[in-house]
Amino acid sequence: MTAGDRPPRKFPLPLDRLRASPRASPTPTRAGASAAEALPRPQRHGLAAPSDLHRRAPPAGLGLDSADVRRRMVDRLRAGGVEHPQVLAAFATVARHLFVDPALATQAYEDTSLPIGYAQTISKPSVVARMLEMLFAGQNARTGGSLGRVLEIGTGCGYQAALLSELARRVISVERLKALHDKARELLAPMRSNRLRLVFGDGMRGHPPGAPYDSVIAAAVGGDIPAPWLEQLAVGGRLVSPVEQEGGTQALVIVDRSEAGYTRTVHGAVRFVPLKSGLA
Ligand code: SAH
Repeated sequence: MTAGDRPPRKFPLPLDRLRASPRASPTPTRAGASAAEALPRPQRHGLAAPSDLHRRAPPAGLGLDSADVRRRMVDRLRAGGVEHPQVLAAFATVARHLFVDPALATQAYEDTSLPIGYAQTISKPSVVARMLEMLFAGQNARTGGSLGRVLEIGTGCGYQAALLSELARRVISVERLKALHDKARELLAPMRSNRLRLVFGDGMRGHPPGAPYDSVIAAAVGGDIPAPWLEQLAVGGRLVSPVEQEGGTQALVIVDRSEAGYTRTVHGAVRFVPLKSGLA
């Protein structure tokens, strides 16, 4: 074949330059196949793509089920300053990739927040770890060696609820979006934890039937801390929540309750989705 009688080229790559020498090429040439068909085709590996489209479970073969992947995340958390052994052990135990969309599973052990649908996000592991560590420094948690009775506002996909149930005697997690509440219920079902209770409701009101709480943790940010959370905090209990600051920034706020009253301290900058009232 000469350059003159070649069909018009549809593909922008100069495929004829990719031709290996006849002896080196392992590509079998069918009798009657044209020289163009015998060329190595880089797109041939894409033939498996249609079957990938129908994949629902996290991609297999990525090693995400391995405890090693989580151990590496724990090493990074430790290098970033997280020290509490129980907090680190919980991160080594709970499989974060099962809580995110299969298409995002490969990013599940990176230190990043990820979308969980309905305009919400699963928080960054380093921020969750920091908040859990802050809760452990509360008076009741220090003396009890556990987070005790916990109220979580904003179940989302349930990842943080799974961590909490490794660290507490009892966890009540409230979510205002029915679709996410149902999704978390489904994802957490295999854990069969009788320490964890998921509630569909407006977390701005806390959850009075489970009060008082030794630890309160919010995964959504508001202009201030709702009064019911403070009322439902046990004496010796600690609350950790993002709160909007002047100038549109957000910071983590800790509130400790003692016999004498409430003490509030403001910590580092964070970024959370908004706390909203009512159900949806
Ligand atoms: N901890 C979650 C992150 C959830 S993102 C996880 O691990 O996936 C914050 C969640 O707070 C969202 O799901 C949002 O719907 C919920 N939320 C916001 N306002 C709320 C309210 N008033 N009551 C309960 N949940 C609320």
